[in-house]
Amino acid sequence: MNVRTRFAPSPTGYLHVGGARTALFSWLYAHKHAGKFILRIEDTDLERSTQESVDAIFEGMEWLELAHDEGPFYQTARFDRYKEVINQLIHQGHAYRCYCSKEELEQVRTEQMANKEKPRYNGKCRNLDLHMPNREHVVRFKNPLDGEITINDLVKGDITIANKELDDLIIARSDGSPTYNLTVVVDDMDMQISHVIRGDDHINNTPRQINILQALGAPLPQYAHLPMILGADGARLSKRHGAVSVMQFRDDGYLPEALLNYLVRLGWSHGDQEIFSIDEMITYFDLNGVNAAASSFNMEKLLWLNHHYIMHGDPEQVARHLEWHMAQRELDLSKGPKLADVVAAQRERCKTLVEMADASVYFYRDFNDYDEKAAKKNLTADAVPVFIKLHDLFAQLSDWEKEPLHQVVINTAEQLGLGLGKVGQPLRVALCGGSSSPPIDVTLWLLGKETTLARIQKALNFINAVN
Ligand code: GLU
Repeated sequence: MNVRTRFAPSPTGYLHVGGARTALFSWLYAHKHAGKFILRIEDTDLERSTQESVDAIFEGMEWLELAHDEGPFYQTARFDRYKEVINQLIHQGHAYRCYCSKEELEQVRTEQMANKEKPRYNGKCRNLDLHMPNREHVVRFKNPLDGEITINDLVKGDITIANKELDDLIIARSDGSPTYNLTVVVDDMDMQISHVIRGDDHINNTPRQINILQALGAPLPQYAHLPMILGADGARLSKRHGAVSVMQFRDDGYLPEALLNYLVRLGWSHGDQEIFSIDEMITYFDLNGVNAAASSFNMEKLLWLNHHYIMHGDPEQVARHLEWHMAQRELDLSKGPKLADVVAAQRERCKTLVEMADASVYFYRDFNDYDEKAAKKNLTADAVPVFIKLHDLFAQLSDWEKEPLHQVVINTAEQLGLGLGKVGQPLRVALCGGSSSPPIDVTLWLLGKETTLARIQKALNFINAVN
């Protein structure tokens, strides 16, 4: 079978983690089966859809590197096609024009409620076959009256719904515009979607969609409805749980690999494996490993994964993402060490790229002020001979490599009869402005000779000025 999956977001907001997980599962399933992954923008709700949201979806998908093979298709570009199918359904007796007024429908509804019946369309126009082109009307699908629909859901198992539970759904509004269930069905049919993987909030739509597909004589896709994502408190994940927009995770310093790894494990498992490369995800992912129950979002686990990918990722690759954070801080990266070297030096200490960027500013831009406590302790008159000696030895050093740099620090301590800490710590404060940095030889190496000498001189000036 040709596997064709799709991600079909409505552009009414940012790409949130639930959507991203749906996209990931669809993408993985297509890749696993050498199939195609299709991106479809369901923008028929003209009032709520915005170009900004479309762009936000693209941005999120791009950041996660979930590339589509076909599309993006826009439903608003397909109105003629939907109209054609609506007419076909009317023509073949699967749909009908309904002229019931709002007031009439309201009255039926009130009566049904009074009789404790489920409110539903009473089918008045179903068999009238009216055609009054100038009178306002909607088009309704003629849902079968008897029998039942069974969804063989790949995640939830079999779900059976009796047709009498379903009324005649509106497929075209009075302005002629198609409704959601119709557009989805036409698209899934035309795009030959083999697997509909989506959130389980759509499960109620599925029997209706199956009925329409059957009326059109289209093959049925397989369905996989993914359970909801909950916050740590058990309520549906929402803004008040913190970050829910995919791009917010970027802004907060997460790597896309970490978020993808986190999302793949959210409701899916493969033994007790926690870390998955993209290739492993593709190999092991399967819909029958997806948990039918909701899963909750755990920030701490995501942070743990993020640190893992920062620690073990290719420094060049991590640097590509760190670059964005450095740009936010308006740093000129040509004025300092190679960013991948900074990653390698910093990664043990940083769980997020925000932490890493904040801790790496001094490599690219001189700081204005010293950390007060660190300066008070380390930039004292006692440090003057240390700095003079260091300046001297560094100035003479031609081989700016970690080993000889380390040797300079040791020699300085020995020659002045001081412990290593009495040399290393003041030097660190002089170089970075504070008391934490990578090992001193690495810090020196990254900063380079010119900056090192300038910062030692700056520390000497500072001591002069305060004493
Ligand atoms: N556009 C729908 C949504 O964003 C998804 C429809 C579908 O996947 O069938 O919720």
